[in-house]
Amino acid sequence: MKFGGTSVADLERIHNVARHVKREHDAGHEVAVVVSAMAGKTNELVSWVNQMPTVTGSNAPFFDAREYDSIVASGEQVTSGLLAIALQSMGIDARSWLGWQIPLQTNNAHGAARIEDIDGGEIIERMGAGQVAVVAGFQGIAPDNRIATLGRGGSDTSAVALAAGIKADRCDIYTDVDGVYTTDPRVAPSAQRLDRVSFEEMLEMASLGAKVLQVRSVELAMVHGVRLFVRSSFDDPDATDSAAGANPPGTLICDEDEIVEQQIVTGIAYAKDEAQISLRRVADKPGVAAAVFSPLAEAHVNVDMIVQNVSEDGSVTDMTFTVPDGDLGKAKKVLEAAQGDIGYEVVQSDPGMVKVSVIGIGMRSHAGVASTAFQALADKGVNIRAITTSEIKISILIDSDYAELAVRTLHSAYGLDKEAA
Ligand code: ADP
Ligand code: ASP
Ligand code: MG
Repeated sequence: MKFGGTSVADLERIHNVARHVKREHDAGHEVAVVVSAMAGKTNELVSWVNQMPTVTGSNAPFFDAREYDSIVASGEQVTSGLLAIALQSMGIDARSWLGWQIPLQTNNAHGAARIEDIDGGEIIERMGAGQVAVVAGFQGIAPDNRIATLGRGGSDTSAVALAAGIKADRCDIYTDVDGVYTTDPRVAPSAQRLDRVSFEEMLEMASLGAKVLQVRSVELAMVHGVRLFVRSSFDDPDATDSAAGANPPGTLICDEDEIVEQQIVTGIAYAKDEAQISLRRVADKPGVAAAVFSPLAEAHVNVDMIVQNVSEDGSVTDMTFTVPDGDLGKAKKVLEAAQGDIGYEVVQSDPGMVKVSVIGIGMRSHAGVASTAFQALADKGVNIRAITTSEIKISILIDSDYAELAVRTLHSAYGLDKEAA
């Protein structure tokens, strides 16, 4: 059972979470729980780090990522202890576990570490003896023996890794919505809950901006075959006893084979804070793309959509791509420094772009899915700046002013709106 930040936002909610855990425990299940920090806590901790003075000197890092991890991991330490106490007060044997105590081993990429291994041994033993394990999400221990965090939203990944590590029968992700919707219900009130979503589609949805699950958690679930059930922690804990046969609302993330009725389009996702960069009049010859993207990669700038035009006379062309808004300054510096090697004439950039994506496994076998999107956006006067596609998604870059309009328009265009009550 994993509970996110809004589900443990205050003491009353932590008590409510304890009631959900008690229900499963009383039904005879052996339970491990993963918790996030209280809503807003991690943001506060991050902002404290960002307010600290940095080391002076040319190549100094912005801040020591190991200390960042030690600070921002603290929110989960608090909620795991509080939940353990709440459970004890209900007569349940429970204890908290920090990442290093399990241990949940990560690599050295502080701030966005990947889980390498998890030793479920002691937890399995104690669960067998009736003790509930309350695990602090978002954290592990790196080979340098320092605390490491898993990137924002990382408690989902802790939960999936733990579920795999203890060979759990179920991994329930409790959050502030009662499942995965056809799009973010905060943007489109007409969004509908999906009963089942395949791992592959969920991976695309999460990668393309649907923050309901961290991308890495879906990857891990897919690799280890951990079926996820996304459900709400705000449902009455005593009225949703799945063990007793009640069917709580929620979304099952599972193998494609388990989904009988496959829609052509499953959902619409969007990602804000993208920036567009265009290099004008780049020489059209072998090696140019490498000259553009190698230095960006070396500077750890994550390039996303890439569009290169075919030149009219074979001499010069335009190259457009996107980077996260936050990396735009760095990217421009890198490109300016490499102007000699690349040989472009001007670099133009536009921050504040949004990438809207249409996702669906059914696209593999259906024609005309993309044209529906383009026509619907054209009808609303939304200008398209760049397009990329894969087998199961279409991504469209637009101005951020049109983000919500575009999400709702595409949602309707593919018939995803729920029928008015
Ligand atoms: P938690 O703190 O429980 O991890 P998050 O805030 O990380 O919760 O994720 C839940 C939120 O994800 C929802 O409140 C919702 O606004 C957002 N969201 C974005 N896209 C979707 C979607 N397709 N379906 C459901 N929720 C979505
Ligand atoms: N508390 C961490 C965050 O806000 C991890 C999580 O909530 O999943 O990113
Ligand atoms: Mg989350």
